[in-house]
Amino acid sequence: MHVAYFSMEIGLENDIPTYSGGLGVLAGDTLRSCADLKLPIIGITLLYKKGYFKQTIDGDGNQHEQDMAWNPEDKMTRLPNKVVVKIEGRDVYINCWLHELKGVGGNAIPVLFLDTDLPENNDYDKTLTQKLYGNDHRYRLAQEIVLGIGGVRILESLGCEIRKYHMNEGHSALLALELYRKEQGQPDIIEAVRDKCVFTTHTPVPAGHDQFERELSKSMLGENLPKELEAELFFRGKLNMTYLGLRFSKFINGVAKKHGEVSRSMFPGYHIESITNGVHSYYWTSDSFRKLFSKYLPGWEYDPFSLRYMLSIPSQEIWDAHMKAKSKLLSYVNKKYGLSMDQETFTIGFARRAATYKRGDMLFANIERLMRIAQGSKGIQIIYGGKAHPNDYEGKQIIKRIIENMNKIKLKIKVCYIENYDMETAKLLVAGVDIWLNTPQRPREASGTSGMKAAHNGVPHLSILDGWWVEGHIELLTGFSIGASSEEQKETDTREDAEDLYNKLEYVILPMFYSERDKWIKIMQHSIAINGSFFNTHRMVQQYVLNAYFS
Ligand SMILES: *Cc1c(COP(=O)(O)O)cnc(C)c1O
Repeated sequence: MHVAYFSMEIGLENDIPTYSGGLGVLAGDTLRSCADLKLPIIGITLLYKKGYFKQTIDGDGNQHEQDMAWNPEDKMTRLPNKVVVKIEGRDVYINCWLHELKGVGGNAIPVLFLDTDLPENNDYDKTLTQKLYGNDHRYRLAQEIVLGIGGVRILESLGCEIRKYHMNEGHSALLALELYRKEQGQPDIIEAVRDKCVFTTHTPVPAGHDQFERELSKSMLGENLPKELEAELFFRGKLNMTYLGLRFSKFINGVAKKHGEVSRSMFPGYHIESITNGVHSYYWTSDSFRKLFSKYLPGWEYDPFSLRYMLSIPSQEIWDAHMKAKSKLLSYVNKKYGLSMDQETFTIGFARRAATYKRGDMLFANIERLMRIAQGSKGIQIIYGGKAHPNDYEGKQIIKRIIENMNKIKLKIKVCYIENYDMETAKLLVAGVDIWLNTPQRPREASGTSGMKAAHNGVPHLSILDGWWVEGHIELLTGFSIGASSEEQKETDTREDAEDLYNKLEYVILPMFYSERDKWIKIMQHSIAINGSFFNTHRMVQQYVLNAYFS
């Protein structure tokens, strides 16, 4: 009996470009830990033959997008099974590819990539598994039908017996309709479906929820949408995937304690727990720290909880490991962008999807002050990265503003915007900078995970108190906060937050980094020991197993 883990995006490795950001990377890390822990689980997503997109940025800060060509045959094998789903009254055929994901001990778990590029399908349907988050609502809903309903049917055709269906965010919630069809004849059909479903929500604001107009939904779903459910499935006239997930799942969770609270107040009447996200410890640890951990904590890759013992190892070795990771990052940016960033200068890192709520340009809110701070210390360097969704005008404007500001200060402060942020560049960045910055608008960062990756590499976090950082933050011990405490209900004010960010940099962080190196290394050490040992997917997956999968 397996758990089926459904996700619209899964990030397994750089050369399988089927992810766009944190949601997909979390899915990949989750499955990686399941493989390590030898859990009976199957991952399911779409193939995305053209990936998400490859980003380049011109001198004015405009983002340009290209398809990403990759060859599934290099990474997976096509299985012979074929199933059919009805979309807009047409029969759409679905096939799948199998990738064997190997854990650190060599155990492998299957990850299935659904594909509609088959001769039986018309030209439009062939494209349904080409682009992640591409095209319009009609295309997206068709993709969600393929994932949710097609996914359940593929599992059935493979003879998999499924104990629980885990929906990683609402995109796959249509799977509940297929289970509802399969459970016909049960005394309480909805209860029977709920027994089988686990739903993880990641979206702390109503506007972010995936939803579709009534007419579109009815014409596309047709007979997949049982008449007797219509009344309760449409919320304010729309088919809302979050409500679908909530209605049909017995176990529901948010992805950090704070996000659990926010979700409970957004969706009164549902029992919503929280399981705080993590990252895969071995995957996200740089070579130099892997070596150091293995020297003092042999077997840590099987047991990342043992990172807590990092407290007792010599601080010089932590610093040396960090300098190796830093040198790797700086060589990369210096070579690729013709820069001369140096090893001794305090380096700030920020990289994530360029979504408005992440306020990526906050560091540049007052560039005169930023330059004064840099000149008043032994200097700073700034490295950024991140893609904006192709249809996100505001996100693209953020990138443009960042680049424009970088151009204004670059004679005083060395700056770099790394193009095409992906899992490989993320690995370099989170390990190679001296501090990892995050500036989301509360309470919109449901969890955030890049700061956990940084923590595994001894890189302290400087962040607004939102998402996981509410739990991981101990001031001056694991990093630094920006702005109000998480209990304060007031709206975040970007100007005040920016002031606070500059004050922390000027009066606390830079003096400590340059003049009290021992104290600084203690913070690095605690980042690993306190946060690396806890904010990992081994701990997270064990919580899902105990609370959601086998309860
Ligand atoms: C970890 C990761 C993210 C998520 O970062 P957040 O801190 O959650 O914004 C996004 N993109 C890539 C490529 C990542 O590796």
